[in-house]
Amino acid sequence: MCGTNQAESWDHVPPKTLFPKSGVEHLSLSSPQMANSRGYKLPACRTCNELLKLDEEYIRDRFSIAGSHDSARQIFKEGTRPSYTRLRERLKKVTKLDLILRDLVPITVTSKEGLVLGTAEGIKIDSQRVERVSIKIIKGLYYQNIGERIPDSYKFQIYWNPPNWLPDILEKKTNWVGRFGDFFAYKGITTNSDKFVSIWWLSFYRSLGIIVVVLNPELAIELSKE
Ligand SMILES: [Zn+2]
Repeated sequence: MCGTNQAESWDHVPPKTLFPKSGVEHLSLSSPQMANSRGYKLPACRTCNELLKLDEEYIRDRFSIAGSHDSARQIFKEGTRPSYTRLRERLKKVTKLDLILRDLVPITVTSKEGLVLGTAEGIKIDSQRVERVSIKIIKGLYYQNIGERIPDSYKFQIYWNPPNWLPDILEKKTNWVGRFGDFFAYKGITTNSDKFVSIWWLSFYRSLGIIVVVLNPELAIELSKE
């Protein structure tokens, strides 16, 4: 991951925490062959392996709310259940569920034409935590698919499920594609001129989509000038 320390552990890409702790109760019918798979194992130093642990749990608990199927519910219940193996959790008066409920905000739901349809509950999400975890996943998927690290100078841009982009990306043919049951799926497309310049689509719990663009540092500067 960092390219400097000695790899001394296996890190999971996507993060292991996105998957159920207690085995998969609900297998995905659409991709049964991958439903039991928990992602790729990649070499990492202990620091890199542990670095985003809390961010990964944060994402799991909030993203799984959005999935309206049994697998996502299982993850949410497991994630927010107080852990009695950690004494600290037992002493906490505020549960994780309380914390998530605190982040609820009313949002106005509108049609594509701008017509107000009503209100719903939304959840505030810390986008920096999402970015950190998404970038780590991309670095891992890149290493898995190409066997090289993305150079540190390359830039990442994150977009939340941009509706105009998604169909284009999903239609393109690529070998960089994977699906792990109802928990995680990805697709990546690289450019011919620079193998590190690429676009990735990440889907969590079959509901949330995130696009990550990997940019050449020189090109990124030119783009920002425009
Ligand atoms: Zn490292």
